Amino acid sequence: PHLTIGMIGLGNMGLPMSARLLQAGHRVLGFDLSPENLSAFSARGGTPAESVGGVTEDIDLLILMLPSSDIVENVLLEQGVAARMPEGAVVVDMSSSVPGRTKDLAERLRTGFGVRLVDAPVSGGVKGAVAGTLTIMVGGVDEDVAVVRPALEAMGRLVRTGPVASGHALKALNNLLSATHLLVTSEALHVGTRFGMDPEVMLEAINGASGRSGSTENKWPNFVVPQTYDSGFSLALMVKDMKIARELAHDVGLGTPLADRAVELWEQAAGELPQDADHTEIARWSALRQ
Ligand code: NAD
Repeated sequence: PHLTIGMIGLGNMGLPMSARLLQAGHRVLGFDLSPENLSAFSARGGTPAESVGGVTEDIDLLILMLPSSDIVENVLLEQGVAARMPEGAVVVDMSSSVPGRTKDLAERLRTGFGVRLVDAPVSGGVKGAVAGTLTIMVGGVDEDVAVVRPALEAMGRLVRTGPVASGHALKALNNLLSATHLLVTSEALHVGTRFGMDPEVMLEAINGASGRSGSTENKWPNFVVPQTYDSGFSLALMVKDMKIARELAHDVGLGTPLADRAVELWEQAAGELPQDADHTEIARWSALRQ
């Protein structure tokens, strides 16, 4: 069945994700603060709204693909979107948000507005968003997930992670791994290069060996070796995700000494690189430090 979907946040990820929904035959009402992103969305067949409040009319679900928990809460609560949700419609936060805040938000939405929340953050990058091959980590109640599943399936493969906020928790942990892998991969490859080896030869070996990861299989070959540094995922957002993971570790009462060091280094890079740097720039930054 074709759905009517509201979508707020049409940036690097939200725009191609909305295109997948449109291609699957759903109707999508979209809003973004950036006029360029909004017109790119209309060019793909989306229905642009003039304000954030304009995306809720007759919708079955509302997808948020925004930078942070702060903005997600602002849009839903301060800007009054939660109050405009039609009866039975479900909010799906696909942003990489803070799990503790997602839990509280779900409770506020339920008690204050009778609105249900599913968290469904994604991994797979801009490429995965364009191809509809994202991995979507879905937290929430089965009944609510059933409402949104046909929409999510147009964007990727679903993994049910558990109750509300579990998707956001797992996404932060995934990115902690991804960021740590990228940094240590960069350190190792810079050492090998200094020793006289070619990065592409090293990657060929490592990708058939036990040191491989998303960083050796995707990030280094596609964005670092060709020196394009244009993955479409910013360094600032990666640092945000690492801090979420650190907070989660603290919340559950565990220490993460190795990860803490990685977060420190990434934060230092964020302070030294331009504000809009791509996260793959960490590889170049790490070479300068060695
Ligand atoms: P982005 O900065 O490209 O897009 C965010 C969009 O939200 C922008 O277009 C911005 O104009 C819009 N926006 C901000 N505040 C708004 C508001 N109040 N109302 C309406 N629109 C508003 O970011 P992105 O890379 O698309 O990432 C979005 C989320 O997805 C983040 O949580 C990020 O961590 C996560 N994520 C990104 C990637 C990636 O590869 N880029 C991959 C997985 C997850």
